[in-house]
Amino acid sequence: MNLHEYQAKELFRAVGMAVNPGEVARDPAAVQALTEQYGGSAVVKAQVHSGGRGKAGGVRLARSPEEAGGHARAILGMTIGGLTVREVLVSPIEDIATEAYVGVLVDRESQCPVFMVSAEGGVDIEDVAAANPEAIHRLRIDPRYGLLPHQAYRLATRLYDDPDLARQGARVISQLYAAFVDNGASMAEINPLISTTGGRVKAIDAKVSIDDNELFRRPAAAALRDPFSESPADRQAREAGLSFVKLDGNVGCCVNGAGLAMATMDLVKYYGGEPANFLDIGGSSNPDKVVAALDIITADPGVKVILFNIFGGITRCDDVANGIVEAVGRISIEVPLVIRLTGTNEAPAREILDGAGLAAVTSMDEVVERAVRLAG
Ligand code: GDP
Ligand code: MN
Repeated sequence: MNLHEYQAKELFRAVGMAVNPGEVARDPAAVQALTEQYGGSAVVKAQVHSGGRGKAGGVRLARSPEEAGGHARAILGMTIGGLTVREVLVSPIEDIATEAYVGVLVDRESQCPVFMVSAEGGVDIEDVAAANPEAIHRLRIDPRYGLLPHQAYRLATRLYDDPDLARQGARVISQLYAAFVDNGASMAEINPLISTTGGRVKAIDAKVSIDDNELFRRPAAAALRDPFSESPADRQAREAGLSFVKLDGNVGCCVNGAGLAMATMDLVKYYGGEPANFLDIGGSSNPDKVVAALDIITADPGVKVILFNIFGGITRCDDVANGIVEAVGRISIEVPLVIRLTGTNEAPAREILDGAGLAAVTSMDEVVERAVRLAG
């Protein structure tokens, strides 16, 4: 789950980090008033879950309250990365001497947190990685010991030659690690970490992603979710307890179990098709989940066929069959439905489907091949 910049900054302040001040506003008048409070100039920043806000025109400096109000009118309602801007963060303007990048994320390969720092901050780190990979310095952290003080200082010396700036940088890097661990983050990033013309190091941007699997035990973090940052399908899937990932193909997939869902997507590709989604209805499926799944899949105009692939273990095939019949009765499904069921309670499931004029096969190859053919 991604956080907004202003939310991430709160988490950083909570561990004592030097972060530039700022307040969130939802209308131009409030932005104008805040700019007056800040002495007549301010930076106005779109709060959306998207990088590159600066490039998209979502970060603007104002030299008067009226100009700030104008920026707010331009930014509020703007679309960045497919998301509508509903809030802006207003901050006093900093005098920037240098911009660095500092980030930590969970690296799947090494199964450890990995720090990445670069003196070339302020720009997309992906661009730095492509154009000038040696400008990025990496350090793998042993989670048993955490980030040790000498490691933080060494990372900071990659950013600053001046020992005072390096000491301040080391403090920020340690604090970033603390915020990352304390909040169950999978990623925490400051870009840019600035040094001011007055010699102070501080974070003026913040990005944090909380591991979804941490949310159940972190109600405070879970409460930071912005429902407007999710697509309707994502929200519906989360509320129904389905694992759902939207993809670009036309074969809608409804599968029980993440492994089988991935195998199904592989097989769709093998037969020359493209999956429209990953969707796992979970282990102990109840009919409601199947209805929700079909609701989500049929709402995608790109879907040309719906493929059910159910392997009954803990999941009972008759539950799924009931869900399918219920859904077909409730929502109008205008694309062909192909079903493969096998395993627990397969026989009653077939009877239920037969009764509704739906047929099921047992072979995974057969059903996937048919789905790809129907999808054209
Ligand atoms: P992003 O484009 O979404 O990453 O948004 P950032 O918060 O990183 O802002 C983009 C750029 O705007 C920064 O790299 C800075 O160069 C500039 N910027 C942001 N805040 C200030 C500020 O207070 N003063 C100055 N001079 N520039 C700023
Ligand atoms: Mn940034």
